[in-house]
Amino acid sequence: MATTGESTDTAARTGEQYLAGLSVGEREIWLKGEKVTSPLDSPELRSAALSMARVFDLQHEHADEMLAPSPDDGRLVNVTHLIPRSREDLERRRRAIELTAALSGGMMGRTPDYLNVTFACFSGRSDVWARRGNEEGAANIVAYQKLMRDGDLSTTHALMNPQVDRTKPEAEQMMGEVSLHKVGENDDSIILRGARMLATLAPFADDLLVYPGSDIRPQDGRYALAFAIPIATPGLRFICRDSFSKQRNTFDYPLSSRFDEMDCVVIFDDVEVPRERLFLDGDTVGYSEVITDTGWRGHIMHQAFTRAYVKLAFAFGLGHMIAEVTAVNRFDHVQEKIGQIWNMMELTRAAIVAAEAGSFEDAGGVWYPDERPFVALRGEMPKWIPRANELLQLIGGGGFMATPSKADIEGPLGPEIEKYFQSAGADATRRIRLFRLAWDYLGSDLGGRGELYERFYLSDSYRMTALAYTIADKAFPASLVEQFLED
Ligand SMILES: Cc1cc2nc3c(=O)[nH]c(=O)nc-3n(C[C@H](O)[C@H](O)[C@H](O)COP(=O)(O)OP(=O)(O)OC[C@H]3O[C@@H](n4cnc5c(N)ncnc54)[C@H](O)[C@@H]3O)c2cc1C
Repeated sequence: MATTGESTDTAARTGEQYLAGLSVGEREIWLKGEKVTSPLDSPELRSAALSMARVFDLQHEHADEMLAPSPDDGRLVNVTHLIPRSREDLERRRRAIELTAALSGGMMGRTPDYLNVTFACFSGRSDVWARRGNEEGAANIVAYQKLMRDGDLSTTHALMNPQVDRTKPEAEQMMGEVSLHKVGENDDSIILRGARMLATLAPFADDLLVYPGSDIRPQDGRYALAFAIPIATPGLRFICRDSFSKQRNTFDYPLSSRFDEMDCVVIFDDVEVPRERLFLDGDTVGYSEVITDTGWRGHIMHQAFTRAYVKLAFAFGLGHMIAEVTAVNRFDHVQEKIGQIWNMMELTRAAIVAAEAGSFEDAGGVWYPDERPFVALRGEMPKWIPRANELLQLIGGGGFMATPSKADIEGPLGPEIEKYFQSAGADATRRIRLFRLAWDYLGSDLGGRGELYERFYLSDSYRMTALAYTIADKAFPASLVEQFLED
């Protein structure tokens, strides 16, 4: 709690305050050919906005675990905004991430903690941003992170350029005009044009963050950019994919009716970025060093795999409960399938514990998780979660299709449904609810999007496993071999 002389005010927002912020300024979000200026005005976006409000309320319900005094003024802020300075800080942060993820069973990957963690580490390692004369950009990122923390902002990010021709550098695709790039500048701002491929959560965010996500060639400085701007910035447009938010009751679609966090392509039509919100401009070396030297990799995986642990626990719970309902959990091969999901869940938990146990203070004074177990998971998790979905299908069989709607249960066929949909472990209504929930997790359009997300949101598994090999410490393994190569 705050010490004497410090304010005990809370900077952390409530759900109501968060929702009020969504109507500030005029957003340009395009959904099915129509412009939406606030997600609260769209029936297809509204329910996820309300779920996000629950995320903000949650921190007040678990204030003892999720809030802590800001180092600047003692006001209570979400712990995911704080720069970790000890192993205990990492453990406390993980608990807050876990509570947030549990709210959606891990279905929402981009709740604000994702970028809170990222910018806390960027701010903690502002020395990396300051290299090669970028002291102003570094000071801007420190100031922005405080604003993000004290305003308890909801943010989205867009790192990748659109898929045009992946064999070519950005500057050589479509005359270099498609990828986000700088087209001009004046005393107060720089001017940007082009597109970024995806920004999840954009309709539900206050600000858009752009920072490095891949390497860049030395001659491509106009693409080497990092900055933050409000979603409601003139010229900034978001084009949504189809909404997967079902306009049905929570019985029929327990997840789709609540948790479609939405993915949007971002278009910059001569957007002005004020200089005080610019973190990097043209430094192609710095662009790569931000990825490798700020500790971003370990910190973001601490968030990502804590959420993945919760999502696998949810999958295990679903596998166990649907198998119990139809008593197939008596068969040993079904037990083995549910056991496989448990293995993945437990190995994920073990990796998080190992990363925290091996954590240390980095060169900039930020407490850093041992990234090795995370790097290993980064290659495997994009295969594990789709595999968990496959296992759930094998456990549930056709049961996923024997799922009449709430309207059917309450209609004239209700008594017959009660009789013919009952099962060994549950009455008809409970059995149907359970199978509908599991299908929404793995097979509905939201479930399918979730699987794609897990495969790609941290880049693809193939490149990540190759990265694991290239950054691996080979000294001990090589020494084991070497000893037998000498006479
Ligand atoms: C649901 C979802 C939400 C997302 N949300 C966000 C977000 O909020 N913010 C954000 O910044 N990004 C987001 N992403 C994008 C994500 O970062 C990318 O999907 C990821 O980096 C992979 O890039 P890509 O999709 O362009 O695929 P590509 O890079 O085009 O890859 C497609 C295929 O081609 C192969 N390939 C591509 N290039 C090469 C190469 N050079 N050598 C060999 N093989 C290659 C890949 O291995 C893969 O099999 C999201 C993605 C998804 C699916």
